[in-house]
Amino acid sequence: MKKINFYIPDLNLDAAQYVNTALNSGKSLFRGDFHEKCTQYFDTLFFPSKSYLVSSCTDAISMALITLELQQRDEIIIPSFTFVSVANALKNRGCQIKLADSLENCPNMDLESVKNLITPNTKAVIDVYYGGIISEENLKIRNFCKENNLFYIADAAHLVISKETARTVIEIADITVFSFHETKVLNCGQGGLMVLNTNSRNKIADEIYNHGTDKTSLNISNKKFYEWTNEGLEFNLNEISCALLWSQIERTNKIIDNLRKIILKYNDYLKTLRNSGKIKNCTEANASSFCPTIMYLVLESAEACNTLKEYLKENNIDTRQHYYPLHQSQFCRYKLQQQDNCNNASHLYERLLRLPLFYSLSEEDVIVICNAILKFYGAKDSALV
Ligand SMILES: *Cc1c(COP(=O)(O)O)cnc(C)c1O
Repeated sequence: MKKINFYIPDLNLDAAQYVNTALNSGKSLFRGDFHEKCTQYFDTLFFPSKSYLVSSCTDAISMALITLELQQRDEIIIPSFTFVSVANALKNRGCQIKLADSLENCPNMDLESVKNLITPNTKAVIDVYYGGIISEENLKIRNFCKENNLFYIADAAHLVISKETARTVIEIADITVFSFHETKVLNCGQGGLMVLNTNSRNKIADEIYNHGTDKTSLNISNKKFYEWTNEGLEFNLNEISCALLWSQIERTNKIIDNLRKIILKYNDYLKTLRNSGKIKNCTEANASSFCPTIMYLVLESAEACNTLKEYLKENNIDTRQHYYPLHQSQFCRYKLQQQDNCNNASHLYERLLRLPLFYSLSEEDVIVICNAILKFYGAKDSALV
């Protein structure tokens, strides 16, 4: 039986060629031509917002917190159902982590839960565009933040940046962060991007990005030296990674087209299970310009999820569950001594199953996966007619 992987990063011949070009250019491997190309590409797409290529989405979040001058004891609301790096960035900065629950059967944060966590010390909300989609719930939370003078930071780690999505992105959040980690759809091994939508903070962001110095304003100001002017870190995405990233950027449309096709097939073949209620919720290939990047099913029970996962494993099909909710984590319970109740997030984790989704996943493999799921449920008609 052939093994179907959960994920295979998309590597192509251009990637190797571009890395060679960078190595042979005789130019900087810190910020060279590919760094410039990628930055210009993002700056153009997100204009007038400014783009900063950084070494991970985690770093982009840290840079966002410094850029917005969030301080110790400021309270920041994040979903319990998210990746741990968001919480770590807050912990490292000494901010107070407030965990909000998810909606029932849905990976989105619940606005009501956010509202319940608001205190006079609340300064920001970090929301997730789960699976690369900006949903109604995201917009509701953003509007709530606007009305209440809170920063809205969007964790768009899953979102594929394209001409079509960039416009929407800059209209929503104060800062949007992206990931190019190898587990994401557009990837360069490890990398990230911070897009700053509040122009008044360009100078401070430039300083943070340049080791906390005024290096970038030297050209303009005739100053002969640069000096320490701000907090800063070494967040730069190096030239070799930018060369890899450029090879992916060039393939954006192809990648999006393929993912959409795959998700349509999943939706089509699993329709009967959706209609019968065995699948409570799942990724939909919708008509919006956002391309879903996670194929998930929310099943009826933890038991259904575990046994289906085992069954698929026996059939050589690799699936995954995530995110083990932060409020249940050892760190929260013992180190932070926080006792949050995010029941929807707990139930979601137990019942959410992610199916394979990547550029080179073939239609035949999608059929094999769907047939196995239908067989598990004893459905009469298989996906393959
Ligand atoms: C992957 C991921 C991150 C972290 O991205 P890195 O580039 O690995 O730092 C942050 N948030 C979410 C929601 C993610 O899925």
